[in-house]
Amino acid sequence: MPRSLEKSNRHYERAVKQLPLGVSSNWRAWGPDKTIYVERTKGARIWDIDGNEYIDYRIGYGPTILGHCDDRVDAAAREGMKVGGTFALSTIRESVVAERIKKMVPSVDLVRFANSGTEAVMASLRLARAFSDKDGHIMVEGGFHGQFDSALWEIAPDEDLTGGLRPAGAGVPKVLRDLVNIVPLNDANRLEDVLKRRSDSIGAFVIEPILGNAGSITAEPQYLKDARELCDRFDVIMLIDEVKTGFRVARGGVQELMDVRADLCTFAKALGNGYPISALGGREDIMRMIGGDDGIAQGGTYAAHPVSLAAADKTLEILDETDTLEQIADYGHRMQQGIGEILSHRGIAHVFSGHPSMGGLFFTESVPRNYREWATTDYELYNSLAAELIELGILCEPDSREPWFVSAAHDDACLAETLEKFETALRTVLDRQGASNANV
Ligand code: PMP
Repeated sequence: MPRSLEKSNRHYERAVKQLPLGVSSNWRAWGPDKTIYVERTKGARIWDIDGNEYIDYRIGYGPTILGHCDDRVDAAAREGMKVGGTFALSTIRESVVAERIKKMVPSVDLVRFANSGTEAVMASLRLARAFSDKDGHIMVEGGFHGQFDSALWEIAPDEDLTGGLRPAGAGVPKVLRDLVNIVPLNDANRLEDVLKRRSDSIGAFVIEPILGNAGSITAEPQYLKDARELCDRFDVIMLIDEVKTGFRVARGGVQELMDVRADLCTFAKALGNGYPISALGGREDIMRMIGGDDGIAQGGTYAAHPVSLAAADKTLEILDETDTLEQIADYGHRMQQGIGEILSHRGIAHVFSGHPSMGGLFFTESVPRNYREWATTDYELYNSLAAELIELGILCEPDSREPWFVSAAHDDACLAETLEKFETALRTVLDRQGASNANV
């Protein structure tokens, strides 16, 4: 039966009178006829208010690593509720969860908690500035580090790398431009160039070694090694943003997977299985700059909220002490194999990137090495296919820059259904393309 979004469409008319674009986060707005309003979620599935059922590969852009409404995590969160809401004092559990993080991520000597990825990266960047006494920073093209003014800068892939730097959206103060540098991934010479020219003013190099916001395009081992050495040589803090990769691609995140050690790193998403919590951590000498008269400001009314903290405690216990991450990677791997067979059967060139738990799919011959190369892939085919998959109840992001996230709740039934529907969606898209070519 074709999907109906009648109730969602009707609700959109009401929502748009209350909320800009009818939603509470810009990326949830898919237009008047496609915006989905959720009724409930469980495991790997979402049901919308029209009763449509989806297998979810967005899982909130990564957080619900154990699945939606995981009973174990929700029970822990209810225990956290008994502690209370906010009281502007500390609890023992903050140290317990910090100890878990330190055990899983060896580069972390000390931890501070916050509520969102944005807050964690923003505080880390401030910390890097304070420690280095240098206000500028470098980011990698195609990366995303949250919604704060220093991070909301980009270069469109069709623009010149040096000339095209622009704020990602209105309202970002243009005076910040001089603090921001953007380099392509996997080009250590470019990084060295920028550092040679501007290292006096650059305090931090911010990187997602798996670009979770650009199809999981991945840093090459030698590049990461070079970047680490360059940061050391030029006295620049290496800030690894593990908001998407943390506690997902390995227990110790991308740092364990790729054998690299950050000076500072940030976590959110999988840390709390969907409950709002984030963390920053890193070298003791840097982290000790938090607080005091000369130190940096970090914290807030809701930091280390007992409900989220209890959820994080349980989530990390499960991720650290069971083979959940191996199971997730195995599912992702089998899904890529199945999708690969369907595409190869039709002679469609394709590659996967990143880690199977958050893999990117590109229609091209070889894996893109940076964001610029993503722009040369057939992302229009991806976009058409994604739209069709969503119609059939396979909820991937409509944009090819978002990887497919897998949770522990994705089981063999999900896999079989996903592959069957992938085949159907592909056939529909190719038939449609064939028909429109025939009409030319
Ligand atoms: N860093 C990365 C790598 C992210 O992917 C995101 C969000 N997708 C953020 C930071 C910001 O996190 P939040 O949305 O929780 O503020």
